[in-house]
Amino acid sequence: EEATGIALSRHPRDSYFIATKMSNHRLYGAGLRGKELQEASVKMYQDSFKHLRTDYFDYYLFHILGTGKGMEEMRGRLYDCGIADFILKEKEAGRIRKLGFSFHGDVRVFDYMLQESGIPWDFVQIQLNYLDWRHASGINVNAEYLYSELAKRNIPAVIMEPLLGGRLSKVHDHIVNKLKQREPEQSVASWAFRFAGSFPNVLTVLSGMTYMEHLQDNLCTYSPLHPLSDDEFVFLQETADLMVQYQTIPCNDCKYCMPCPYGIDIPAILLHYNKCINEGNMPRNGHDENYHKARQAFLIGYDRSVPRLRQASHCIGCNQCSPDCPQGINIPKEMQRIDHFVERLKQNLMYKL
Ligand code: SF4
Ligand code: SF4
Repeated sequence: EEATGIALSRHPRDSYFIATKMSNHRLYGAGLRGKELQEASVKMYQDSFKHLRTDYFDYYLFHILGTGKGMEEMRGRLYDCGIADFILKEKEAGRIRKLGFSFHGDVRVFDYMLQESGIPWDFVQIQLNYLDWRHASGINVNAEYLYSELAKRNIPAVIMEPLLGGRLSKVHDHIVNKLKQREPEQSVASWAFRFAGSFPNVLTVLSGMTYMEHLQDNLCTYSPLHPLSDDEFVFLQETADLMVQYQTIPCNDCKYCMPCPYGIDIPAILLHYNKCINEGNMPRNGHDENYHKARQAFLIGYDRSVPRLRQASHCIGCNQCSPDCPQGINIPKEMQRIDHFVERLKQNLMYKL
């Protein structure tokens, strides 16, 4: 916020929109409740004005509702401490122009917010992409349901994770071929950007760009956007059906699980594992034709991507990380599984089988 505030202060206030969030899940997670939570949350809200050098927010969100303890946590964060009333009064006073929430996790929270909270939401931020449309994994909910519920109430949707943390730009080689066959000139990522932007009720797409090529793709794809045809929509659904057959771990590199107190580089380990699956470098057993090549690629790539001290073998299984993972990944279990796999590769046990 401070860096953004400095950058934006050079421009007229009416030439841009500011969106920021009430991120009091961390305060709640640290054990604050009731009055204490309210005071710390109000301070967080007021600090955002100072940091962003503004006297109003165009978009303000209750951040990441639905994670952690679901309904209980949502009630604690919004209602029991009175912060929902406070924010609604701020909106009445004109310091918040549009009020929304971002959603991950327990669908009961999403339904409660739309059906029972009585809050007139101006927008809702959801995770939507062609894989999550009908194949949401972990704690996520199918985007088809989320989007339809918003559309039928005329609530604009803000889209997050259109590229699923870059996973939809780094898909399995077979999928790349399939997409390239259909549109040789289009990048793999552009399919995902077009999918997210094609729905009429979408207010904006937060592109979640990681690399320069994502930024370039983003600009090319949205200027101007060519919405998907019905046929292309079906094609992407078939692609998603195929994709779920590859056993990648649904990590989107958001890093919410970091830092690990024991120094494990969780996303780097999971991304390396996924990369090997996508590139067909997943040594299964010694009878595989490319076992030796795949084994070498996996082990050398692992040491290059993740320093030894930060590899899965150093995970002690404390599980401090998993509750923060919006994808619902059982991180210690995956660390143990990958470590076991690496050990078997190192000792060439699979070859001896
Ligand atoms: S379970 Fe493993 S990866 Fe997760 S915080 Fe503990 S040591 Fe780190
Ligand atoms: S929080 Fe989950 S999805 Fe995000 S980087 Fe960590 S493991 Fe991956």
